[in-house]
Amino acid sequence: MIESKPVRVRFAPSPTGYLHVGGARTAIYNYLFAKAAGATFYLRIEDTDRKRYNEDALNDLLRDLKWLGLDWDEGPYFQSERLEIYGKAAQQLIDSGKAYYCFCTEERLQTLEHGYDRHCRDLPLDEAQKRIEAGEKFVIRFKSPPDGITKFNDLIRGEIETPNKDLDDLVLLKRDKFPTYHLASVVDDHYMQTSHVLRGDEWISSTPKHVLLYNAFGWEVPFFCHLPVILAPGGGKLSKRKGAASVGDFRDLGYLPHALVNFLSLLGWSPGDDREVMSLEEMIKAFSLERIHPKAVAFDEKKLEWMNGMHIRLLPDSFFAEELKKLYPNETDEGKFLKVAALLKPRLKFTNELLAMSKYFFERPEKCEDGKAYAKYWTEQSPEHIGLVSKELEKIEDFNIKNIEAAFMKVCEDSEVKLGSLAQPVRLAISGVGAGPGLWEILECLGKDECIFRLRRVN
Ligand code: GLU
Repeated sequence: MIESKPVRVRFAPSPTGYLHVGGARTAIYNYLFAKAAGATFYLRIEDTDRKRYNEDALNDLLRDLKWLGLDWDEGPYFQSERLEIYGKAAQQLIDSGKAYYCFCTEERLQTLEHGYDRHCRDLPLDEAQKRIEAGEKFVIRFKSPPDGITKFNDLIRGEIETPNKDLDDLVLLKRDKFPTYHLASVVDDHYMQTSHVLRGDEWISSTPKHVLLYNAFGWEVPFFCHLPVILAPGGGKLSKRKGAASVGDFRDLGYLPHALVNFLSLLGWSPGDDREVMSLEEMIKAFSLERIHPKAVAFDEKKLEWMNGMHIRLLPDSFFAEELKKLYPNETDEGKFLKVAALLKPRLKFTNELLAMSKYFFERPEKCEDGKAYAKYWTEQSPEHIGLVSKELEKIEDFNIKNIEAAFMKVCEDSEVKLGSLAQPVRLAISGVGAGPGLWEILECLGKDECIFRLRRVN
């Protein structure tokens, strides 16, 4: 039944804050669903709440979606540019007797305890017209049926029934002539031909109201699919206070966009086998609404970290070589970028570690920067040991890993020093830090002259 009409889906964020991981997951599911169906994924900006509108948020949102690689096929459409359409739609419901003008003041509404009391519902239309002409302020409200039930079939949760007596006469058009979310959402999903509404489950209580609106207009109701809540690791809502919560936060922490997309795609969905690390193509191929479950899911940042590492390993060395090139534009030895990239890739957990981890390959360390490692490994004999190594390295003609290793072994044997007490001080003198890729590899990458230069500085 799901694919019974042409698929066309949307992501419809309100630009009021940052793109939260929950919103990103909604965008990802819409994107994957559209791509899997060879259908259109469009972007609609729900900017009708002028009090909460924030221009920066809009720019950040577009940037974050692009960064995630969720390119939309159409839009962005802005609701604030479609006021005329919503006005006409509201008028259509007035004309058919399914909506009414309400003149109740804020003060009056504030005295009501259980929602709106339908005070203006039976006001004759000509009387209402006169009051409007006299300049009275009004809103347009929906005439919600007082009894009966409204049903809809959520694709993940099954049939959901709501007694109509629980539904308010909701406002469709506000005093400022801007539509409410409900009116704009229904009108747009109709005219923009949305086939499936995939959205966070905080909207599930709005859906019966939307269904009533579709019926009042005489429009076909789209399919609904409410996505499970994402919880913080210890339970409760995911929030900035409990750690990173927005796409921008994770970008700043050095996560790869694709790792984040992959991780978020699994919060509520699974491909049906034990695959976890997937390319976008694999996700698209495996995606189906049937495999989304309704249970709340916990956001496990440790798992995201692991997944990021997996995706880093899957990227070609050339990706990191390009990143290095940006970090060290003055380096002339092109081949070095690729060599360093290959050495660092297996050790990277986050892309933004690249700068700190690669520095000594491109710039001579001033002094040992790693106080802890220095205290642990540096001894009175270290300068002497380094002198011996330096002499032995100088003799090498072909400065490769095998010969470098042999040189160290020779010093160990000749002077009866353990490799550890030789290699660690050399590492400190060469790189300034106590950990990194294999020492022979580092030395080979730096080249003989540079190694000798750095070792000689010690004595
Ligand atoms: N503008 C709503 C939001 O920010 C969209 C809800 C919906 O998809 O209908 O989440």
